[in-house]
Amino acid sequence: MTTIRNQTRSVSVGTATIGGPSPVTVQSMTNVPTHDIDKCLAQIAQLTDADCEIVRVAVPTADDTAALPQILKQIKIPLVADVHFHYERAIEAIEAGVAKIRLNPGNIKDRQQVERVIAACKANNTAIRVGVNEGSIVERKDKQQHSQEKQVSLVELMVDKMRDYVRIFEDNNFDQLVLSAKCHDAARTIAVNRAIAAQFDYPLHLGVTHAGDIQTGTIRSSAALGALLAEGIGNTVRVSLAGDPTYEVAVAWELLNSLGLRPRTRPEIIACPTCGRTEINLLEMLEQVKTALAPIRQPITVAVMGCVVNGPGEADDADVALCGGKDRAAIYCQGKHIITVPADQAVTALLEQVQIFLAEKKL
Ligand code: SF4
Repeated sequence: MTTIRNQTRSVSVGTATIGGPSPVTVQSMTNVPTHDIDKCLAQIAQLTDADCEIVRVAVPTADDTAALPQILKQIKIPLVADVHFHYERAIEAIEAGVAKIRLNPGNIKDRQQVERVIAACKANNTAIRVGVNEGSIVERKDKQQHSQEKQVSLVELMVDKMRDYVRIFEDNNFDQLVLSAKCHDAARTIAVNRAIAAQFDYPLHLGVTHAGDIQTGTIRSSAALGALLAEGIGNTVRVSLAGDPTYEVAVAWELLNSLGLRPRTRPEIIACPTCGRTEINLLEMLEQVKTALAPIRQPITVAVMGCVVNGPGEADDADVALCGGKDRAAIYCQGKHIITVPADQAVTALLEQVQIFLAEKKL
């Protein structure tokens, strides 16, 4: 799919760039205390290994910002400090050397405090994300109702809040801004981001806030971010999931890969859902294949199919494929039938072909 991207400014975030002609980047956030340096570093290492490109940490206390220099020394991806309520945490994080801070207009409102943060960012080449969350819009309490009209009002409140806050940065000649507006509702997230993309030329960080557990959050995030990205809106994404943050990274990459916005760097698995025609234990085989392919860092397409209805067709398009029959399976490589084996040898035979394919591709 070729999407015309919304034109935005470019913002440098350490070694990454958000906006302009740069590809959409993948972010995540740790869920351990930042002042627990070992745990924080271990989680950032896992996220980096999962191909997270920018990582955010919460800094609610001075102990958290005090840990930042140690953390920064030992990580390879840009670090963002998530600041709420206390502008002092922002100054401390900036001086520690983070690449970006996130400010919430809903809880750091004092203009003089914001201007002190802007001055520190200018002095240290630090970017700022202005992150408006629907939960931080206090005016919403006066407006709560359940009609469609009311939903539009909340969107307008969020855009107004963004405009008022951004004006402080523009008055201070600061343009290294990334904007975000998050709701827990996918439709509202789409509406508010469309409005912000139409009114500002700063890059957008997309996300659905408090999206839910891995299943619900994946669906809500895919609905909202997928719609916006397909329209060319959005320059960096964070899929928020209540769970292990490495899932957030995997979901974000699948979303960007599926939309053709980033090339695949890992195996793509195509699998049929199984049905009454399936005569092998396909779901168990699929899990074995997924586990075996997980360490591979090359873009290979592997199909795991239940029968001849769609199996040979998918095998034509895949690099390597398994197509089930009655208690046996046929193995294909680039559409060519290689061998038919008993079902209990099918995964081994498929993985052998994967290794052969990857070895030949390297030559
Ligand atoms: S490929 Fe065959 S087994 Fe799989 S869902 Fe389609 S018809 Fe059913």
